[in-house]
Amino acid sequence: MTQTYDSVSLKSMIEAQLDEHLDGVTALYRRLHEHPELPFQEHKTSAQVAEALRAQGFEVTQGVGGTGVVAMLRNGDGPTVMLRSDLDALPILEDTGVDFASRDTGQTPDGRQVPVMHACGHDLHSSCLVGAGAVLMALREHWQGTLMLIAQPAEEIFGGAQAMLADGLYDRFARPDIVLGQHNMPALAGTVGHTEGQAMAAATTLKVTVHGAGGHGSMPAQTIDPVVIAAHIVTRLQTIVAREVPPEQTVVVTVGKLVAGTQGNIIPHSAEMEVNVRGFDDALHRRVLEAIERIVRAECEAGRSPKPPEFEVLTETITLRNDDAAVARVRAKHAELLGESTLFDMPRVNGSEDFPYFGNADAGGFGGDDIPCVYWFVGATPDARWQQTPGESLSEKLSQLEMPHSPYYFPGNDVTVRTAMAAFAAGALAWLAPRERDTPGA
Ligand code: ZN
Repeated sequence: MTQTYDSVSLKSMIEAQLDEHLDGVTALYRRLHEHPELPFQEHKTSAQVAEALRAQGFEVTQGVGGTGVVAMLRNGDGPTVMLRSDLDALPILEDTGVDFASRDTGQTPDGRQVPVMHACGHDLHSSCLVGAGAVLMALREHWQGTLMLIAQPAEEIFGGAQAMLADGLYDRFARPDIVLGQHNMPALAGTVGHTEGQAMAAATTLKVTVHGAGGHGSMPAQTIDPVVIAAHIVTRLQTIVAREVPPEQTVVVTVGKLVAGTQGNIIPHSAEMEVNVRGFDDALHRRVLEAIERIVRAECEAGRSPKPPEFEVLTETITLRNDDAAVARVRAKHAELLGESTLFDMPRVNGSEDFPYFGNADAGGFGGDDIPCVYWFVGATPDARWQQTPGESLSEKLSQLEMPHSPYYFPGNDVTVRTAMAAFAAGALAWLAPRERDTPGA
């Protein structure tokens, strides 16, 4: 029987492959979940992902941009499609209660020993990348083009995407025609949410140190008090959003950390702050950062600070902007192969990703034209739990559920694993060309 590339048979072929690989992918997911690793330390995680892809027949390279993995399948003429997952975990003590919960610890770059947990589901992303690889490898007779699977390190600190690009990702392997990524979220398991245009925020975390001249708390005139200077800075920074950002724009400026002094009767030498900035317009984002620097310098001057303040960018990423035409194409393939009823419209979120560097030629440093990106969300809350959760709208329900980065967050149910595999595979098939002999009517 000759198989044709019509959607009914393609759909049933994919479903058969998902059934075949679900247990293996779930087992890999659990192994990755039990032994999470901090950013740029994903040695065991990346080795397992690489080994699984190699066993399927991909040409696999490890150590790209640190611990990144690249798996290639060159399967004839056609577009190059990149599917991206991430590998890293967070310094959180897991409290999900699952049998394979992490008890591992890790060491932060500044030498602290911390508990580590896959609290953002990057274990799910990478195991489902392997699962999608298995599906597409099995169906390789039915498509042509180049499939490029990558598992990147250090998403949580917005470092891994740029590290892989700087390590020659597009020169050494292939320059993709389309870049696809996905993230889990506590929407209903089995559903997939798409966003047109701006999908996630630009984000910068800036460390600011202001200097004073410490001394006895009873003799303030003989000191320069950095606590007072810092307090003025914190309140004045609030005027950026209130007075400098156009009201139709969304920007957040949060001082999430403010540290100074040791006890009440000592005026310290310095104060330290961490300021987090989010927004959806990269040019405006840069202006907000300039405003922060201007205000900090001016307040230090106003407070007689003896030396200039110091600024250090701790983490930074750009706006994630989906290509609308590409979203429509992926969405249509998801509707065809996963079912229209599984799809929902996902509003943009104030969270951030380093995924957009893979599409932004300037920021990603790879030159030439930008590459269209599509990034979607996969629901991770089992049906029974979803039905019990109060609320009518998506946002009402979400406000009642654990979010990623919580010690209780656990996206790893069977429905979500299967859907994430399917969404990745179907997303790639929206671009990979059908084999000519499979084209209906050919
Ligand atoms: Zn994440």
